[in-house]
Amino acid sequence: MLDADFFRRWMAATAASVDREAERLTALDSAIGDADHGSNLQRGFAAVAAALEKESPDTPGGVLALAGRQLISTVGGASGPLYGTLLRRTGKALGDAAEVSEAQLAEALGTGVEAVRTLGGASPGDKTMIDALVPAVEALGEGFGAARSAAEAGAEATVPLQARKGRASYLGERSIGHQDPGATSSALLIAALDEAASGS
Ligand code: ADP
Ligand code: MG
Repeated sequence: MLDADFFRRWMAATAASVDREAERLTALDSAIGDADHGSNLQRGFAAVAAALEKESPDTPGGVLALAGRQLISTVGGASGPLYGTLLRRTGKALGDAAEVSEAQLAEALGTGVEAVRTLGGASPGDKTMIDALVPAVEALGEGFGAARSAAEAGAEATVPLQARKGRASYLGERSIGHQDPGATSSALLIAALDEAASGS
């Protein structure tokens, strides 16, 4: 079973990897966006980590709801409301249970990803974070390692796609040949789940 501590470790591991990879995320966003994705998420997850230390929610749903609220209020770009919605809706789906199973997390994350699709209007193949999140949720039934691999493969598979949502879509065919920054950061989020589970 996964308790609030596990979810705090997940958010802390995400903050650490976003910090490590911020330059790469911004470089990807400079190719097909406005070069702020790394700094956006760095600011957002730093706020998440700080808020979790201060408030220390005692349920999985409470941890994700607080994290989502921080992302919405601190990240200016498109990705803030989208990631904020992902975590808030996933948290809401987990309710106020003190511990949740991996299967419950998989289902809740599916609900969160659906909410991102509704908010942003993106479908798989549109070259967005959805291209990493949907395969991750599908693979989550086979474990965190499988979800991580699926998210990483999904992010890499955005390279040949033409962007149909967000800022990158303004480039039309010129968006082809670059990995989507949001799909790349979503793969970090899912990898952090695996790190939180394995303690690595
Ligand atoms: P902005 O585009 O406002 O500068 P960011 O650079 O932080 O915001 O985030 C860009 C990422 O957000 C994209 O790489 C893409 O993955 C994701 N994104 C943008 N628009 C959408 C959308 N409508 N649906 C899903 N994801 C989106
Ligand atoms: Mg940007």
